[in-house]
This record gives sequence, C-alpha cells and structure tokens, in this order.
Amino acid sequence: MGTVLVVNSGSSSIKYELLDPASGQVHATGLVERIGEPASHLRHTHDGKTVELDDPVADHGAGLRRAIDLFGEHGPALSDAGVVGVGHRVVQGGERIVEATLIDDAVLATIEALSPLAPLHNPANATGIRVARELFPDLPHVAVCDTAFFHDLPMPARTYAIDREVAAEHQIRRYGFHGTSHAYVADRSAVLLGRDDLKLIVLHLGNGCSVSAVVAGRPVETSMGLTPLEGLVMGTRTGDIDPAVVFHLAREAGLGIDEIDNLLNRRSGLKGLSGHNDMREVTRLAGSGDENARLALDVYTHRIRKYVGAYAATMGGLDAVAFTAGVGENSALVREESLTGLGFLGIDLDPVANRADASGERIISRADSPATVLVVPTNEELSIARQTRRVAESTRQPNLSS
Ligand code: ADP
Repeated sequence: MGTVLVVNSGSSSIKYELLDPASGQVHATGLVERIGEPASHLRHTHDGKTVELDDPVADHGAGLRRAIDLFGEHGPALSDAGVVGVGHRVVQGGERIVEATLIDDAVLATIEALSPLAPLHNPANATGIRVARELFPDLPHVAVCDTAFFHDLPMPARTYAIDREVAAEHQIRRYGFHGTSHAYVADRSAVLLGRDDLKLIVLHLGNGCSVSAVVAGRPVETSMGLTPLEGLVMGTRTGDIDPAVVFHLAREAGLGIDEIDNLLNRRSGLKGLSGHNDMREVTRLAGSGDENARLALDVYTHRIRKYVGAYAATMGGLDAVAFTAGVGENSALVREESLTGLGFLGIDLDPVANRADASGERIISRADSPATVLVVPTNEELSIARQTRRVAESTRQPNLSS
C-alpha cells in the first residue's frame, strides 16, 4: 500500500485528503476553516462517517496538528496508512517550479519569493508546507503548482503587449491557473473519446473560473493571466475588464490601490452584479424574475461563449468542450446557456442528456454532433497524489510506518 496526504493550505483554511494514487480510493478528507478566528471549524470524514467540531484554531500549525489528531481519534491511523509522501498544492510556481518538485529549503524559499505574484495564496501555501515538514520530517514533501501546466504556453499567448523591459523586470507574463484541473480534465477527455489529437476547450467553472484551449494534450491558450483575476466572470472576481477602470476609480472615486484590488477580486463577478456569489442562488433568483440575477447569469454565459469562439479560432477547429468544477459539473442551465447559438462551431448539445440527473464522466452532446460536449468531474487531489508518488518514488525515502 502507498498512500499520499494531499494538503491545500489557503489563507484561512487547510483542506486535506488521504488517498491511494493507484486506485483513487479516498481514505479520509477534511477541512479546517476560519483559522485564527474565534469560530474555527473542523470537519473530518473517514469510512462514511463525518465529525464536525467548533474548536478555536489559532494558526495553521495548530490547524494541521489538530487535523492529525483527528486521524488518530477517528481514523485511519496515519502510522498504518503507508503514507509515501505529502503533496502540497501551490498556486504560483513562476518560471522556476514548472513540474512536481521535491520540496527542500531552497524550493520553499522560491515559493515564498513568488508571493508578490500571488499575495493571497503563496504565503498560505508556504505556511502549510513549513508546518507539514515539521510534523512529517521523514516524508518527502512535493509541490504541485497551479501554473505548471501552462508554463510552456506559446509565446503569443503568454505575452502581454507592454514594454518588454518592464515585463521582464517584474516577471509580468500570462501564467495561467487551475492548471492541475485543466491537465486532469484534458487527460480524461482524451481517454473517454479515445483520441490523443483532440482540439479541446476545458471550462473550469467553480468559485474561480478559467478556460483553456488544449491541442493534443498541450495547452495553447488560457484565460487567467498574471493573476487569477483575468478571463471569465467568477463568483466574486470581474474577469476581463478594461485596465483603465482602475485609473478611473483611483482618479474619480479616490479609491486606494488595495480598495480597488478588493473590489475587483472580492466584490465583483456574480456577487457584484447580483449580490450572490453562489451560482445556485443566482440561478434560483434569475428563475424567479430577479433582473439583477438574470443579468449576472447573462454576463457570465456571454463571456463563456465569447471565449469558446475565440479558442476555436485559436486552435483552427474544435473537437470537444469539457465542463468541470462546481458549476460546470452541476448546472445544466449554465452549460446550456453558455453553448446556445454555437451550432456553427459544430456544437449540438443534447438537452435531455444535459439535464439528466447524472453524475460522473458523461457525454451531453447528440451522437452526431461534430463537436462532443462532456462533463468531466475534476479531481485535483488525485492528480496531485499521483505526481507526489512519482516524485516520492524517485527519491526513495522511508515511509511513515518504516
Ligand atoms: P472552488 O473554486 O472553491 O473549488 P467549486 O468547484 O467547489 O469551487 O465550485 C463551487 C461553486 O459551485 C459554488 O459556489 C456554487 O456556485 C457552484 N455549484 C455547486 N453545486 C451547484 C449546482 N447544483 N448548481 C449550480 N451551481 C452549483
């Protein structure tokens, strides 16, 4: 047996999963949230049983320690679980961490040094790594970065048209994010359709939303750029916007740079337009005649359609579109409205298959649709676990039980 502990350390939360990368079997999942607040919350699931606790958790160190206690108290015992490595989700890997990488002091320093490019994420990722290395000093720790899949985007797709020297000095390029999910879904789509030459569009629609164009397994475009703010309309983020809006708000509204950052990242998107960032609420309100929710949904799906058309043009054709993440996997309405009017690209959605009460990987276009539409549930944890095991095996360190 060889399992991997996957850790996703966010600014105020830690998500973890213990799983077998070979079979995909999940042995335990958990979450520590609202770290540092009086009402911290813990959830741990093993063997179909979930425990929930409202204990104060002061910081990430205490949170991870508490999570490990929960393994001891509610199973499975980590010492018997054959853990071969710890996989860490890292958001920004920059130009230096471009594949799953064994973490040593230098790699950790690199992750921290990239914080100016991902101020909301990398410091939290680094904290999780530091704490986990202290708790599991004998295990290999591996960083899997959201940016890695997109590192080799073609130059025209990764380059912003600004002064070259300024861009070089400040590491300004289009990095792309959600790469682990896009890579996983592209891989699964190729397997499901039995083709390795696909011109594929992957739509990752969760709280954060991004789209990629993938030709024969390699990304050629993606919608997120220097940060995860660019591209599609998201739960709380604007996505694409004229950058002059920032100057306008500074000059005319007197807003400071942090206020504008907060506005565009946390108070925009679906939330800014309708008051709600959860798509379930937005679609419910739109259905009951709420005009703001209706417009929010229209802006959201209009942006998706625009990108699908643009990416089909970028690839010079289209074989398949794959939907994934919370909204993409669950909202038939969003899938349908996003693809309305795209018959000229060969997209012929099957309304019955799209609306069927189904889960798991499935095709939702008609059998004779020139372009196939799929739903492919993402599994970033499994992908991180597989990459972690591969790196761990190549380092041959002892496992926890040895
Ligand atoms: P994250 O980006 O945080 O990983 P997820 O991929 O889990 O997010 O997606 C979360 C979002 O998915 C929620 O905000 C919610 O809007 C949406 N969602 C979940 N279930 C449904 C559903 N049945 N219908 C519409 N939207 C849904």
